[in-house]
Amino acid sequence: MSEITMEKIIQLAKTRGFIFPGSEVYGGLQNSWDYGQLGVELKNNVKSQWWKRFVHARLDMVGLDAALIMNPKVWQASGHLDTFTDPLVECKNCNERYRADKIDLTKPCQKCGKKDTLTEPASFNLMFKTFLGPKEDQSNVVYLRPETAQAIFVDFANILTTSRKRIPFGVAQIGKAFRNEITPGNYIFRTREFEQMEIEYFVHENDWQTHFEAWLKELHAWIDFCGIDKNRVHELEVLGADLAHYSRRTVDIEFDFPFGREELYGLAYRGDFDLKNHSEASQKDLVYTDPQTQEKYIPHVVEPSMGVDRTVLAILLSAYTEEEVDGDVRVVMKFEKAFAPYKIAVLPLSKKDELSIPAEALAKKLAKKWNVDYDETQSIGKRYRRQDEIGTPYCITFDFDSLEDGAVTVRDRDTMKQDRIKIDELEVFFNKNL
Ligand code: ATP
Repeated sequence: MSEITMEKIIQLAKTRGFIFPGSEVYGGLQNSWDYGQLGVELKNNVKSQWWKRFVHARLDMVGLDAALIMNPKVWQASGHLDTFTDPLVECKNCNERYRADKIDLTKPCQKCGKKDTLTEPASFNLMFKTFLGPKEDQSNVVYLRPETAQAIFVDFANILTTSRKRIPFGVAQIGKAFRNEITPGNYIFRTREFEQMEIEYFVHENDWQTHFEAWLKELHAWIDFCGIDKNRVHELEVLGADLAHYSRRTVDIEFDFPFGREELYGLAYRGDFDLKNHSEASQKDLVYTDPQTQEKYIPHVVEPSMGVDRTVLAILLSAYTEEEVDGDVRVVMKFEKAFAPYKIAVLPLSKKDELSIPAEALAKKLAKKWNVDYDETQSIGKRYRRQDEIGTPYCITFDFDSLEDGAVTVRDRDTMKQDRIKIDELEVFFNKNL
C-alpha cells in the first residue's frame, strides 16, 4: 500500500470530523486547529485513559486542576521569565523567522534563498502575556501558563497536608498550556495552544534513578497501550546545552513522524530545583518530614511530561491502515478499542420504519453504556467503509430477519468477520469485547 503521508491524515481528519482548521470561515488562524465531533472523543479518551491509569489505578498518585493564570512571581521563581526562551533568527531580506536551533545557520534562507541574510540569534521568551483587569499597565501583566507543572509545585504543601500521601508520591494534571512558538507547524504537532498531561513525582534524592527508570518503562507501556507503533518510538538522552534550565537528566521519547523524528514526550529529573526556588521566593516552608526517620528534606522530582495533541497525532498515524479488499483500497483506522471515538455503529439495512424504529431503539439502549453512532443513509457497504475510516470497532446491521429471529449481524472492524448474535446477548458480547 502507499506511504502514509501527513496529507492523508489531515484530509481524513478533516472530512470525517476529527480535526478542522481553526476559524476556517475567516480564512483560519495560523496553525490553530479545532477538534471536531470525533476528535474530541478521541482526545477525551486519551485524557480519561491516562487519568484512569496514572491517577485512579495507583495509590501513590493524586490529581490537580489548577488555575491557568498564576501569580507572575511563580514564573520569576521557576526561571521561566528569564530562561524560557528559544533562539530567534530573522532573514534581513524577506523577514522570515526561524528557530536558530532547528536550522543550519550556514545555509541560505529557506524561504527566499538569499545567502548571509540571517540575523544573529536573539533570545525570544515564549510566554504569552496579557493583563489582569481593565488597566493595561506593567503592574497588571500576567502570563498564560507555558506548562502545567508549576501549579503542582506551588500547591505542593496544600496537597501534602490534605492528601496525607507519603514520599514517594506523585501529582498529575491535565490542561492547556500556551507557548508563543516562533515556528509553529506540522499540523497539531507544534501549536501555540496545546494540552499537556504532566506528573510531578516526588522522591527522596537517593532514589531518583530508580524512579526515573520506572517512569521510563511506564511511558513505554502507556505508548503501547495507546496503540502507538512502538517500532517508530525511540529514546534520546538529552545532553549538555540542550538540557532545559531545570533539568539534571532528560530522556526524550521520540516518534518517527512523516516530517521526521521528533519529540513525543519528555522525562526529566528536575532535582529539587522547583520546590527550592518556590520555597525561597515565597518564604514558605516546602520541606518534607519523613514520618519514620524524621529526616527533613526538600523532595526531588521526576517529571513525565506528555502532550495530548502529539499523542493524538501519533495515534492517528499509527492507526491509519490501507488494505486491499476485492481490488479496492479499504482505509481503516485501527484504533485500540478504548480510544475509538465510537465503539458501536447501529445500521438498519433499510430506512423503512419497520427496521429503523427498532434499530434506533437498540442504538439508544446501547448508548447508555457505550458511545454509539446511528446511521441509516446510503448503502450498507458505504456505511461500513465510513465506520472503518473512523475506526468504529463494531457495526451492527439490523435487517428484516432481525424482526423474525431477534438477532443482528455484528461486523468486526479488523477482520470484517460477521457474526449473527441475539439482541438479548449483545450486552454480554460488548462487555466482553469492548
Ligand atoms: P520541543 O522541543 O518540541 O519544543 P519541548 O522540549 O519544549 O518540546 P516540553 O517543554 O518538554 O517540550 O513539553 C512537554 C510536552 O508537551 C512535549 O513532550 C510535547 O508532547 C508537548 N508540547 C510541547 N510544546 C508543544 C507545542 N508547541 N505543541 C504541542 N505540544 C507541545
